[in-house]
Amino acid sequence: MKAVTIKEHGGPEVMTYADVDMPNLAPMQVLIKVEAAGINYIDTYQRSGLYQIPLPATLGLEASGTVEDIGSQVTRFAKGDRVAYTNVLGAYAEYSAVEQDKVVSIPDGVSFAEGAAAMLQGCTAHYLSQSTYPIKSGDSCLIHAAAGGVGLLLIQMAKNAGAFVIGTVSTEEKAELALTAGADEVILYSQTDFETEVKRITEGKGVNVVYDSVGKTTFDKSIDCLQRFGYMVLYGNSSGPVTEFNPATLGPKGSLFLTRPTLFDYTADRESLEWRSGDVFNWIAQGKLKLRLEHFFPLADAQEAHRALEGRKTTGKIILTP
Ligand code: NDP
Repeated sequence: MKAVTIKEHGGPEVMTYADVDMPNLAPMQVLIKVEAAGINYIDTYQRSGLYQIPLPATLGLEASGTVEDIGSQVTRFAKGDRVAYTNVLGAYAEYSAVEQDKVVSIPDGVSFAEGAAAMLQGCTAHYLSQSTYPIKSGDSCLIHAAAGGVGLLLIQMAKNAGAFVIGTVSTEEKAELALTAGADEVILYSQTDFETEVKRITEGKGVNVVYDSVGKTTFDKSIDCLQRFGYMVLYGNSSGPVTEFNPATLGPKGSLFLTRPTLFDYTADRESLEWRSGDVFNWIAQGKLKLRLEHFFPLADAQEAHRALEGRKTTGKIILTP
């Protein structure tokens, strides 16, 4: 079968599209014929070495497809089922072998591309808005990279929860997308000082929660956008990791909270995975959550897809099709 693998960490050029052995099927695994593999920013960290993974590796942490075969002890799924998974390496491939407990069924009315998009980015937006800081009606929030894969979903979930949403983006085109997704205000943070803008928009008060996936270039100012007892949710490093921080500063800035959450923890047990993915699938099927599926690349062009993502050229979801 074909797969995209890396033997060493580095730029997009270290990814190779080539023949590899079919995965061996363990007793509790299902073999999935991949129809859509999601690309996520974390794939670039695992490729570059910012996040270390055992090498050689087939990249990709999310896919949807059809169950082709089942291990001898599999009880949850049967051949032919439409399924999706996340948090398991090996999605950039024609086939994946995945523990049944990591796999969920895709309901009728949800496509394979939607199924893939719902898993990593959808479940992330779900846990950020429902659990890390459960957004209440009347809250205000700041969402960075608002036109990105997670960003567009998080805007919608925050609006559905009744929040006032401020987004940041780098271009006018992305601003339109964030507004269409429901953002009340959008700041072009590449052109204006977002802290000043947030203070202006909130009449000096600041927001209840900042969802910051950009990291290095936004972290310090994000903290200064919070009101008393506000939540600083640092969940990514698109511009590079935050390496220096003094927790004592949280006190005088208003007894703030700081967390660095991961999807892995928020979907660690079967109940959480089913709850989050189930909500996301239902919201898609009911039209309460719109996915932006614009960027489709053949599996062979994974390098190009990574360049587009890291070059800030994409909006919404990027899908690889085997
Ligand atoms: P996005 O589609 O959001 O792409 C990243 C976006 O970040 C870009 O489009 C760009 O938007 C913005 N950005 C700001 N500065 C930079 C920079 N220097 N280089 C590149 N991009 C930059 O990706 P995803 O939706 O896949 O992921 C978003 C973030 O969420 C990532 O940081 C990812 O690691 C994180 N994440 C964390 C999870 C967790 O559980 N902790 C789970 C899932 C994702 P703009 O041009 O508008 O600035």
